[in-house]
Amino acid sequence: MNVHEYQAKGVLKEFGVPVSRGVAILKASDAGAAARELGGPLWVVKSQIHAGGRGKGKFTEKEAGDEGGVRLAKSVAQVEAYAAQMLGKTLVTAQTGPAGKQVNRLYLEQGANIAKEFYLSLLVDRATSRVAFVVSTEGGMDIEEVARHTPDKIVTFSVDPATGVMPHHGRAIAKALGLSGGLAQQAETLTAQLYAAFIAKDMAMLEINPLIVSGEGQIMCLDAKISFDSNALYRHPDIVALRDETEEDPKEIEASKHDLSYVALDGAIGCMVNGAGLAMATMDIIKYYGAEPANFLDVGGGATKDKVTAAFKIITADPQVKGILVNIFGGIMKCDVIAEGVIAAVKGVGLEVPLVVRLEGTNVELGKKIIADSGLDVISADDLDDAAQKIVAAVKKA
Ligand code: GDP
Ligand code: MN
Repeated sequence: MNVHEYQAKGVLKEFGVPVSRGVAILKASDAGAAARELGGPLWVVKSQIHAGGRGKGKFTEKEAGDEGGVRLAKSVAQVEAYAAQMLGKTLVTAQTGPAGKQVNRLYLEQGANIAKEFYLSLLVDRATSRVAFVVSTEGGMDIEEVARHTPDKIVTFSVDPATGVMPHHGRAIAKALGLSGGLAQQAETLTAQLYAAFIAKDMAMLEINPLIVSGEGQIMCLDAKISFDSNALYRHPDIVALRDETEEDPKEIEASKHDLSYVALDGAIGCMVNGAGLAMATMDIIKYYGAEPANFLDVGGGATKDKVTAAFKIITADPQVKGILVNIFGGIMKCDVIAEGVIAAVKGVGLEVPLVVRLEGTNVELGKKIIADSGLDVISADDLDDAAQKIVAAVKKA
């Protein structure tokens, strides 16, 4: 689960991490008072969307002005003007996709004087099964570009979970960033704070870009992006409360209500499959035959008729979907139960695109008979290969 920058900074502040003072703004009319309360001489007006690259982003509306999604203001009046320009407008960044995202919240911060910009992140490194730090002196920029062109400017190491974060980790970061004296000490303290926050809140990723040294000699986190491990949210009600559903795909929200594993994708073929492995194999074979899946959807091993219906509704409600492939292996669940679920779903929600059903496993003959006898316009398939070819052909013809 992702949160907004201002929420991420709120979480980090609990651990003592140095961030600028700021106020979240929902109405442009609140901006002036908030700016006066923070005090100048410099403010930063920051668009809050679940995507990076805001500084270099562009608004689609003319009234929003030519500047990006992060703006420096030198007066209260300028803060007010920027807030009025940005709120409610659509910001397109390298990470939002061409449609962009509507800016419904701003974060107004006291502006910092930047002397140096660095990059710092923590993530779960699957290769070592440890939390890893990634740091670079090349902050403020696209870290993927740094990795591509000057990989030697990125320093990475992981932390042994048995010892946790140690003073030598902090020293390694200070050294990688070329810091000494008091700044090195600040970096060491920050290293321990960030690690503590990462572990305590079950984060999957924490990215600070830029981490800065201010003109006053303070280390500060000017930006913060956090992804929390969704599987651990049950033990963090404070984090769940930060969820902003307007930033999420409504189809994915609906799927999570029915306990379906669903990820929306860009293609035209909607997939309903049981088991994550089979779902991935299904997506692969759709691609192999020259089409693209519209989603990943695992209805789970013990899917009920209700779950199958909910899944069907989500798939058919997606205007991108030009055909549906149901690929179910009846193991714990019997094929006849699935066939009845599919028919009930089709009757309930209607069907305007071709539907290919491939069933295999327990009671497969009965399942096929139920579908054949249903009178519905369903294309039956014998195996995965056959099913993929049939749905790709049907979609190309339509
Ligand atoms: P992003 O573009 O979405 O990553 O948003 P950031 O929060 O990183 O802001 C973009 C850029 O704005 C940063 O890289 C900084 O260069 C600049 N910026 C952000 N906050 C401040 C600030 O307090 N003072 C100054 N001078 N620049 C800032
Ligand atoms: Mn940033």
